Amino acid sequence: MSHEEYMKLAIELAYDNTKNKNGKPFGAVIVKDGEIVAKGVNDVLKTHDPTAHAELLAIRQACRTLGTPDLSDCELYASGEPCPMCLSAIYWANLKHVYFSYTAQEEEEIGLGTKYVYQEIALPIEQRDIKLIKLDKYPNEKNPFALWEEKNK
Ligand SMILES: [Zn+2]
Repeated sequence: MSHEEYMKLAIELAYDNTKNKNGKPFGAVIVKDGEIVAKGVNDVLKTHDPTAHAELLAIRQACRTLGTPDLSDCELYASGEPCPMCLSAIYWANLKHVYFSYTAQEEEEIGLGTKYVYQEIALPIEQRDIKLIKLDKYPNEKNPFALWEEKNK
């Protein structure tokens, strides 16, 4: 299949998902060596899960199917430009190529934009709307970081 055919499938998933009222108009397909290894749609409305985005669900499915958290040899086709959460997941999964059709601007125009979150992330931590407050570590002997280092020498 060509780039156009994979993207056509991602957009069809988005269309059908919207028609079925399962979620927002987004679909994603992950391909490895010319084979589709995962598909995802935005399931936010059906599952009441704000993180159930098409790309994220497709990444989870691809990782389960392939038995690895590393998708560096895969390609992602997303109907829309990924939000910051999905983009982070794309980085964590080591995907090297992401293709999208609908732009962040087009998403913004129908009220589904993520520009606000991108702007927030770019701010210093103390200037963000959501307060991230550092507390002292709980005083005990169990240090997960030290344990991690010890176990990964
Ligand atoms: Zn997303």
